Amino acid sequence: MEGYSFELITGPMSCGKTEELLRRVRRCIIAKKKVKVISPDMDTRAKGDYIESRNGLWLDAIKVKHAIQILSVVRPDDEVIAIDELQFFDSNIVKVISKLMSDGKKVIGTGLELDFKAEPFGSMPELMCIATTVDKLHAVCMKCGCEHATRTQRLIDGQPADKNSPLIMIGGDETYEARCIKCYELPDANKDKPKKSNVKILPFCFK
Ligand SMILES: [Zn+2]
Repeated sequence: MEGYSFELITGPMSCGKTEELLRRVRRCIIAKKKVKVISPDMDTRAKGDYIESRNGLWLDAIKVKHAIQILSVVRPDDEVIAIDELQFFDSNIVKVISKLMSDGKKVIGTGLELDFKAEPFGSMPELMCIATTVDKLHAVCMKCGCEHATRTQRLIDGQPADKNSPLIMIGGDETYEARCIKCYELPDANKDKPKKSNVKILPFCFK
């Protein structure tokens, strides 16, 4: 047994995370390791039981809805556990991966580090802390063509989506593209509306 490790591959949309995961998994298969591939069961995708990278590579994967279910899918003789789209799992994913590591597994995971609002996505900050290695991949910016895209731009009807649109849209007609910091846009439709004040004015007490 090689001992525990957790390799985390992160970055924006279209940076090649799943492609890199599949490359590492294929090496483990060549090395005759027992590998299990897992991905979140999302209502937003009508995919079958496999994960696929944008360049057309794919591997069979077991879909699970809740992070805790990963522990019942993994068998004692599994040596390598590959998990795609970690940002979509509930917060138990941190404990689940810690358990797999303490059981001596090699875990390889991918996840979007930032959501469309450029805020940390799900449990990715904690996962980056417990990972033994973190690889941040960059994408090509779909607006200016530079190779340093770190953000994921949400577009609705081709226009940058509003800051107040929901984090996960089910059945929406939105699209996503990688953008660099300069080209990333986050309009706020509510910015000119008067804000509700959080300050409560307490009545004064007069003697
Ligand atoms: Zn750009």
